[in-house]
Amino acid sequence: MQLPLGPDPRTQRLASLHATLIAHFGRIVRPDDKRRDPVWTLVQGVIGARTKTAISNANTDRLLEAYGTWEGVAAAPEEELAEHLQTATFPALMAERLKACLMQIIEERGQVDLRHLSNLPTEEGMEWLETLPGVARKISAQVVNTSMFNRRALVIDTNHRRVIQRMGLVPPKADTTRAYNALMPVLPEEWSAGDIDEHHLLVKRVGQVYCRPSMQKCDACPMRNDCQYAARAARG
Ligand code: SF4
Repeated sequence: MQLPLGPDPRTQRLASLHATLIAHFGRIVRPDDKRRDPVWTLVQGVIGARTKTAISNANTDRLLEAYGTWEGVAAAPEEELAEHLQTATFPALMAERLKACLMQIIEERGQVDLRHLSNLPTEEGMEWLETLPGVARKISAQVVNTSMFNRRALVIDTNHRRVIQRMGLVPPKADTTRAYNALMPVLPEEWSAGDIDEHHLLVKRVGQVYCRPSMQKCDACPMRNDCQYAARAARG
């Protein structure tokens, strides 16, 4: 006879780490009026690889201001787009990806418009987004979670992924999609889209402040009592 499975222990770990991080950093809540148009969020994600968020935000606003519409951005020559993206990392590559992404949306939808995603279940919408050039799981989750779509989807960027790998919440070599697939089903059910967004922002901050790629400040880190890497380091 097969015994019924109990709740996944990671659910409790995530809930408790969330509370610890709020106690440590305070609340990081994105106000509803900061939720942007989904296309703006998509563009910001596509041109934002390896670039600071504030710079990508400014670049996204600049592009829309320069061309007036996203169709105008799509029609602009790549070299011109790259000029507008000089503060981004790899401006030429970002311009190429952005143009290809916007052109594919126009090809499929007739214009740069993502409103059809509001009629799709979250997973289906994300899968559609991931068929676009330059869009993988981090960006698709960002579009459905942090824009006006406001759906339950966990954004996992490189800071976030490094922390959950070291803590042992996901396997050490899990890529973003694998980490997403492992954690989404075990997030506390009562978490809203806003809670999930806040969770990402809190864990990302751990990665920015304490859990750097080549240096870990475990002694000061709020996660130290529930972290496999810190436990191993303490054992020596
Ligand atoms: S305790 Fe150390 S390894 Fe674990 S998340 Fe914090 S800084 Fe990273």
